[in-house]
Amino acid sequence: MTDPRRRLPAVDALLAEPDVAALIASHPRGLVVRAVRDTIEHARAHGGAAPAGGWGAAVGERTRRLAAPSLAPVINATGVVLHTNLGRAPLAPAAIAAMSRVAGGYTNLEYDLARGTRGSRDGLCRDLLIELTGAEDALVVNNAAGALLVALSALARDGDALVSRGELVEIGGSFRIPDIMARSGAALVEVGTTNRTHRADYEAALTPRTRLLLKVHRSNFQVTGFTTEVPATELAGLARHAQVASLYDLGSGLLLDLAPWGLTGEPSVAEALASGVDAVAFSGDKLLGGPQAGILLGRRDAIAACRKDPLARAVRSDKFTLAALEATLALYRGPAAIQEIPVLRMLTQDVAQIRRAAEALHKGVGKDADIVEGESEVGGGSFPGAKLNTWLVRITPSTQHLAPNTLAERLRGADPPIITRIADDRVLLDPRTILPSEIELVARAVRAALDG
Ligand SMILES: *Cc1c(COP(=O)(O)O)cnc(C)c1O
Repeated sequence: MTDPRRRLPAVDALLAEPDVAALIASHPRGLVVRAVRDTIEHARAHGGAAPAGGWGAAVGERTRRLAAPSLAPVINATGVVLHTNLGRAPLAPAAIAAMSRVAGGYTNLEYDLARGTRGSRDGLCRDLLIELTGAEDALVVNNAAGALLVALSALARDGDALVSRGELVEIGGSFRIPDIMARSGAALVEVGTTNRTHRADYEAALTPRTRLLLKVHRSNFQVTGFTTEVPATELAGLARHAQVASLYDLGSGLLLDLAPWGLTGEPSVAEALASGVDAVAFSGDKLLGGPQAGILLGRRDAIAACRKDPLARAVRSDKFTLAALEATLALYRGPAAIQEIPVLRMLTQDVAQIRRAAEALHKGVGKDADIVEGESEVGGGSFPGAKLNTWLVRITPSTQHLAPNTLAERLRGADPPIITRIADDRVLLDPRTILPSEIELVARAVRAALDG
């Protein structure tokens, strides 16, 4: 018996086949050559058999995959509004327009148009942030982790920063307060216990080395039962008394009160600032609903120190971020924010409206689905424990045995991919996070996935 791997075609022979040669007319030659090599390698690794659909089709499919952009839109049918894996906040139309306005040409990013000299990008969202929040000063950087790094470096480098053991959060497995603190040059001093930290714990840990008291909002988990934490107001007072700085890592950046929609328990930016801490840090792409960014607000001297810190240069934000953030923030000036900013619209959406979207989706899918009550999630570590009632479209394949994992996989393979969740052995679609323009597309993709 000869090894079938010996009969694998040569690269040149495959390139000469008519359907492969035709690919070179519509794709760069180098890409097709790579697809040919990859296809042969794949066959070799799998015993040497020719691809089931023939070589030409396999090379064509691989070329198509190589040519496709690796970052692409997906449809979020999970009901998790701030889904970190799916890129968090979708942007408002005004923010998208602002980004594309600055994308193709030059901008006044660091140019003072009045004086005709070098300007500073630091001024770009600053006035708007001050106007909306009443903070003395503001600085925008690349993300909230970066904001925290800069603030700790500027306010606590070579000294101690005290933080409650109950607030040493890990977010998404890749973001750990202690690791960031270590890199900022500040030494972390943990005080209290996981569930209880008192004012006296901070007081006992104060030494001449202490430079800062840090408060971290406990995103994505709740500590319930026998608990005590020191409120930001008290911590700010204690810091002033001890003549050290205070910093509040707020996480989400809630600019509006969402209590009228039943969403409570997440401290707002206004509340955080009113506590009197020197600086507050939060994300641009969580509840704020803008682009990925880290925002520092607070007292003039504290923010000035952050702006001057060398790390601020390393985590500065780009023109796209600044354009999109400015446009998003501008929406907060008027009553349109709730409707215009997708994150806020999804979070405050009337459940009857979600039901109508579920019905439209159900109608499009047909007999293999029904509508059930369920819950959506805020996500992004915001409003932990909040209940968002929703209506879900539940898929129950009627004609064939189709495992929920297989169905979910087929939907992920749709164009654009549709991300769902599975519960009780069923694929569930939550219309809360499906954009109205996507409903029909999703219905069609589910039908196609059910039919094979
Ligand atoms: C999400 C979060 C961060 C990190 O924000 P990024 O913008 O993702 O860097 C930091 N602190 C808290 C409390 C958070 O919730």
